[in-house]
Amino acid sequence: MIKDNLTNIYKELPSEVKLVAVSKFHPIEAIVEAYEAGQRTFGESRPQEFEKKMQWLSAKRPDILSNAEFQFIGHLQTNKLKMVLPYVSMVQSVDSVHLLEAVDKWGRDNGRQVDILLEMHLGAEETKQGFAEDELLDIMFRLSDGKYSGVNVRGLMGMATNTEDESTVDADFERIDSYMAYLVDLFPELEGFDQLSIGMSGDWKIAIRHGATMVRIGTAIFGERA
Ligand SMILES: *Cc1c(COP(=O)(O)O)cnc(C)c1O
Repeated sequence: MIKDNLTNIYKELPSEVKLVAVSKFHPIEAIVEAYEAGQRTFGESRPQEFEKKMQWLSAKRPDILSNAEFQFIGHLQTNKLKMVLPYVSMVQSVDSVHLLEAVDKWGRDNGRQVDILLEMHLGAEETKQGFAEDELLDIMFRLSDGKYSGVNVRGLMGMATNTEDESTVDADFERIDSYMAYLVDLFPELEGFDQLSIGMSGDWKIAIRHGATMVRIGTAIFGERA
């Protein structure tokens, strides 16, 4: 089942777009099954659950820990960094300066440069996390100054409005895609700044049309969350 779902997505996914399989709320067996089917990139969004899964893998399936990569895609409180950062290849969901500075400090303290994406506020929902354009610009200037040596900013992440109305989703993705292009142009010195993470189960095909380099898909791979 998971294998068929992955096969169907990969059939339509351009080869240069990375599929992040979002396994949050699903048991560790789901990750193992997707791994056996060939999936190598996973996304998780709850620190406690994530840490438990990583501990299970390190005890029972260290091969998965070393061959797969795990990205954090959910809201992250700074007091939970230690549960998350040792295991991740990227934090996609940096949504405040406070978090940015905490991840940077953790990176410097641990001799690492943590790959991050800055989350841009897109959807109409007020509760959604993320930076406005002017805040992003401000942070990008600071990042380009080399002030944050513990992080490596790789691009932007965004979530479109949760709606059936395709034109709204289209407009959200268009906004982040053009802002990404603007930033790439403005900060050529930030060489690794080339990743755009947009698109989930319901809207990833639209995201592809707007320059997604990563899509984050949960339900369409693993089924409904418990
Ligand atoms: C849960 C989640 C996803 C996956 O959502 P689906 O609709 O199940 O594909 C993608 N991105 C983020 C940030 C999420 O929290």
